[in-house]
Amino acid sequence: MRAMGFGCKCLKWIEACFRSASISVLINGSPTKEFNLQRGIRQGDPLFPYLFIITSEGLNILANIAVRDKIIRGVEIGRDKCTVWKNIIKVGAELSKIGVNFDSLFEKQIGDGHDVLFWSDLWASDTPLRLLCPRLYRLENHQAALVFDRVRVSSNGWSFIWDWSREISGRLHGELDTLMSTIKTRVILGSGRSTRKFKGVKSGLYTTKSMVSLIDEKLIPREASPMVTLRNNLIPQKVGIFMWRIQRKRIAVKEELDRRGIDLDSLLCPLCNDVVESVDHAIYSCKLAQEIWVGIHKWWDLPLPSGSNLEDLIKGGLSIGLNTSQRKSWQAIVWVTCYYIWKNRNQKIFRNEA
Ligand SMILES: [Zn+2]
Repeated sequence: MRAMGFGCKCLKWIEACFRSASISVLINGSPTKEFNLQRGIRQGDPLFPYLFIITSEGLNILANIAVRDKIIRGVEIGRDKCTVWKNIIKVGAELSKIGVNFDSLFEKQIGDGHDVLFWSDLWASDTPLRLLCPRLYRLENHQAALVFDRVRVSSNGWSFIWDWSREISGRLHGELDTLMSTIKTRVILGSGRSTRKFKGVKSGLYTTKSMVSLIDEKLIPREASPMVTLRNNLIPQKVGIFMWRIQRKRIAVKEELDRRGIDLDSLLCPLCNDVVESVDHAIYSCKLAQEIWVGIHKWWDLPLPSGSNLEDLIKGGLSIGLNTSQRKSWQAIVWVTCYYIWKNRNQKIFRNEA
């Protein structure tokens, strides 16, 4: 800011905002002891957006200087230089670890064959034709011939245009027959340039979303707990995160706090004072929670088997007699209810309200 010509007084004011701030953190609704902020300003400080602009302006100037002095470089597109492409290949390697073959996700569609090498490119087979039919390749007069030079498809069917250095005879006839039938069965010739079609979706267009669902399919076994499956847009993100924590028992019920070595007066459920407070008890079987679950099941006309637990609850509704959109709604209701049962529990304990 000094370099930008801000005055002494103004700088001191801003500095004061930084130095004087102290914060405390709400843990389950109760504030901790205050401590001083080393960096940054108060949460929600209206000064923040302006400081952000000033700082990013400074960063921008620094970046320009670095580019000018050749300390950093932008992305260069082109053969061998393209880091973006290298990253894509890296992603491909990661995907192969979970059993997704990146290359096989795309289907190459040959256009009219003007941009594909007949003998060297991968187009009719998983290996280049020059390796598949090496003896024919040796007889080829133009080894860099394009698909367009050799193959045509018209309404009359396929035609091949060959240019051999000597006449095909004997065993080579067999090799030639194989070559032609391979091409006929494996390739659809179209028009224009060749393209790549993403197999994951009908439209053939590659999107991040289509890739994500493909990876999900690979990573999440069909029979896995429904807690980890289904991207459900009816569920608010904070609820999704909360359920993720529940699944890993990362919510601060007394049983889990005790397991982590935190000294507590009592492990009993703070609401009913009856049993040890586990995740399952707090969200599912404590008195109020159980009443809520019974009510919700009545409302949806679904059975709630006695002796079931939290996981049964979520699995149960997902597996019986509901269609896809009903399941989505049911999941949203169950998840949001879990969230509010926990929120209610915390409010009762920390603020004596509910
Ligand atoms: Zn209880």
